[in-house]
Amino acid sequence: MLGLISSVNGMIDRLIGADDLAAPVRNRLLRQQLRSVGQATPALLAGSLVVSVSFLALTWGTARFAPLLACLLALNLIYGTATVMARRSSAPTTLGFPVGAVVKAMGFAIVLGALWGATLNILPVGDSALVRSAATIGVGGLMCISMMAMVNYPQAFIAFTVPLLVGAFWSVVGLHSTADLWVQGPLLAGFSILMMVIAFRHARSFIDHRASEAQVQEKRQIIGLLLREFEQSTSDWIWGFDESGRINRISGGFTAATGVNEEALLGADFVYFLACITPPDDPLMAQVEFDVADRQTFQDVELRVTAGGHECWWNLTGKPAFDDNGAYLGYIGTGSDVSERKSAERRITKLAHHDPMTGLLNRTKFTELLNQAVARLERYGAPFSVLYLDLDQFKSVNDTRGHMTGDKLLIQVAKRVLRSVRDTDVVARLGGDEFAIILPNDAMAENVAIVATRLLEDVKKPYDIDGEFVSIGVSIGIALAPMNGTRPDEILRHADLALYRAKADGRSVFRFFESQMDSEARERRLLEVELRDAVKNDELVLHYQPLVSAVDAQPTGFEALVRWNHPIRGLVQPAEFIPIAEQTNLIVDIGDWTILQACMAAATWPDHLTVAVNLSAKHFRQSDIALVVKKALAVSGIAPARLEIEITEGLLMENLDEVTDKLAEIRALGVTIAMDDFGTGYSSLSYLLKFPFDKIKIDRSFVEASSTDPVARDILKAIASLGKTLKLKITAEGVETKEQAEFLSGIACHQLQGFYFARPLDAVELPLYLLTTVPTRARLVKAEAEAVLTRAAG
Ligand code: C2E
Ligand code: CA
Ligand code: CA
Repeated sequence: MLGLISSVNGMIDRLIGADDLAAPVRNRLLRQQLRSVGQATPALLAGSLVVSVSFLALTWGTARFAPLLACLLALNLIYGTATVMARRSSAPTTLGFPVGAVVKAMGFAIVLGALWGATLNILPVGDSALVRSAATIGVGGLMCISMMAMVNYPQAFIAFTVPLLVGAFWSVVGLHSTADLWVQGPLLAGFSILMMVIAFRHARSFIDHRASEAQVQEKRQIIGLLLREFEQSTSDWIWGFDESGRINRISGGFTAATGVNEEALLGADFVYFLACITPPDDPLMAQVEFDVADRQTFQDVELRVTAGGHECWWNLTGKPAFDDNGAYLGYIGTGSDVSERKSAERRITKLAHHDPMTGLLNRTKFTELLNQAVARLERYGAPFSVLYLDLDQFKSVNDTRGHMTGDKLLIQVAKRVLRSVRDTDVVARLGGDEFAIILPNDAMAENVAIVATRLLEDVKKPYDIDGEFVSIGVSIGIALAPMNGTRPDEILRHADLALYRAKADGRSVFRFFESQMDSEARERRLLEVELRDAVKNDELVLHYQPLVSAVDAQPTGFEALVRWNHPIRGLVQPAEFIPIAEQTNLIVDIGDWTILQACMAAATWPDHLTVAVNLSAKHFRQSDIALVVKKALAVSGIAPARLEIEITEGLLMENLDEVTDKLAEIRALGVTIAMDDFGTGYSSLSYLLKFPFDKIKIDRSFVEASSTDPVARDILKAIASLGKTLKLKITAEGVETKEQAEFLSGIACHQLQGFYFARPLDAVELPLYLLTTVPTRARLVKAEAEAVLTRAAG
């Protein structure tokens, strides 16, 4: 029986298009079909009562009344039972095939159909036309009501209709009237078929409709599951809004990120909400609004928002949703808080664009902005100026006070420079103690000069670094664009040339670029090329300036001073080419050559005469100087004590330990070490204590000043007595007058040097000088004998 029911069910399922549904969906639909039949049972009961009453009224008092009453009572009782059962039926506990409900529905339908068929045969339809028409109307009405009641479940309708029709036909056949048979038969059959077709069609569309609803429901459940899964597995959030823009979906993450509670968010206008928490006129927000208005997908839009009381960054992706018919349903999207990544990105960009120590822009960013300034110049003719700054004597601060202090000084200088210019000006640290400034839209020399003067004054003021006062100056080179150049590299190079001039002009000044600086720079470059050849072509020569005893003005030795015998320029002074040699490392070759040459020359002089050689700090650092000295001594064969090395305090400013070690090595050979230009540096005195010098050479500026300035004379006296205390020999250089010479011998200087005694002597002058001033052994003996004779005579 069950097999029959399920196969009939399957057959009808095929007819109504429910066979290809998944079993759970089909079972759910079947329950809905049965429920809709159950809901119509009161209407069926009512219809049945109306028909029953009219049938009973027509047969009142006849013999057919009693059996009819029994049949109709049974019928209405069944209808009543079905109605009660339908009302009581509860929600299914399983999702399987509802066997019980199907059996009941079909059972009721067959029994009812059969009872109605029987009723028609009990009814005395042959007696009168009234009964016949009542029966016809009754059957038609019953079929109509039943069809409407069971239209969603055609199986039941068939189960009901077939026995009813059989009964009806049987009663018509029982009339023995061919006319009735031919009229009512086709009518009954036709209407029945039509009703069944309608019932099937209706069931089919019911199934279609419900099936698609079920599928949507199922999809929704799956989507819901996936979304829940998504939310649990990531820190991203989900949001959605309906076709009118009102938020209808938010995940916990989103509520937490907004800092607004869920009730307030749901129903709020999504785009308006975003617009409220983003900065006004945010172009990205405008784009989101535009996309939503246009129903476009937007992806990974990063908005800066103020949410939960603080500023953060959200990454939002949104997609419009449409139903199967293309109707717009709103948006669904995801979001996440990317503040951490954003701030890391910003830190990286800041690092890439800024100097970490001072916080100023770095060279890369400066170059970029300079290029932009040039682009603006080209496009709009906007002039600008570039200031190139270099701190004066920063190295000595670094070396004497330590790098920590140096760094702190740079930070404070950077702050002052920033304060001295406008916010719109570009300030960068190009490296070391070099800074650069772009003044956009300003290339008026007077205005730029005002800024430069302010910078000089601001930077010059003393700095308080951990309680210690430090002073520093700055030199500034200025290039104006477009007057001094129209290419970034050209403008910067010209500002650099102007800076070079500012430094050469005594530092702590500013200089504008002038076109001849360019030719001077070219000249320097030319000199550099020529100097290379000079070393190879033996164009360098040494002149020797005598050093004389302060007691009797007799020469005690010579200082070797280099000159460049240029084939065209003539004799070039060391001040002109030594700095170039130092910049190009040629100083190493020149220095090595000088030491050897000076020792070789000394070897030809009387033994008591010394030779002093000037040593450049660059040369000292870049070569194994002790080895060079040893070689020169060995090759020339002079006694080490005859060689003097003159260094300036510049040498001691960097890597003091390493330098003093090297100096000690040379001194250990027996060579004398002298500090040249004493008094011109910042910390000459402190350096005296760091290395055991043999001799100091007081700078000629003190000697020159001593003629007029009593303070200079006091300083000279103090230095002389210091020499005595430290057991150092004191030499005064640059002695040009008799008074100076007398004063200096009076304060117990040991040695004097200067034009008053002799100028530097070339290869021709030197032998003559030696001959005339240096007493030979024979002359010494003669002089001694004369003295003895004079005494004897006296
Ligand atoms: P310095 O070592 O102080 O040399 C003394 C300079 O003063 C020499 O100038 C000399 O000619 C000059 N001078 C001497 N007496 C007087 C005087 O009475 N009045 C005046 N006004 N000047 C006087 P020079 O030869 O032009 O040398 C200049 C500087 O060049 C030297 O200063 C030294 O620092 C450097 N220099 C010279 N030769 C060499 C060298 O072979 N190697 C290195 N590294 N530097 C050298
Ligand atoms: Ca010297
Ligand atoms: Ca000197």
